[in-house]
Amino acid sequence: MTIRGIKRDLLNLLLELGKDSHPNEFAALLTEECGVISELNLLPGTVTGSSSASVFFDMMPLGTHHAGSAHSHPNGVLRPSGADLNFFPRAGRYNLIIGAPYREGDWRCFTADGEPCELAVIP
Ligand SMILES: [Zn+2]
Repeated sequence: MTIRGIKRDLLNLLLELGKDSHPNEFAALLTEECGVISELNLLPGTVTGSSSASVFFDMMPLGTHHAGSAHSHPNGVLRPSGADLNFFPRAGRYNLIIGAPYREGDWRCFTADGEPCELAVIP
């Protein structure tokens, strides 16, 4: 399945989750429906501090509509950490980082290799 983009509602929800979790991180798995990333499954647990969301991914279930992951960086750095680069290949093709202060444009998408990639926002 080719991914065409992410649903705006879901992106807004991810930004909201980042804000609600701050100063902690949240981590979620993303699933697609008909080529659009449209749902999330929050991973259990709370991690205090930054760059530690990868612990969530050790208990990651893999489903058929699995598209990737999203997690927040309370420090606002919109780049994958070393730990992120280790789990992106396991998490899937599209990996979103949501950064403080969690405004509309405070996110980036990365491939499994940790390279920045375009992801369309679909109304
Ligand atoms: Zn991270």
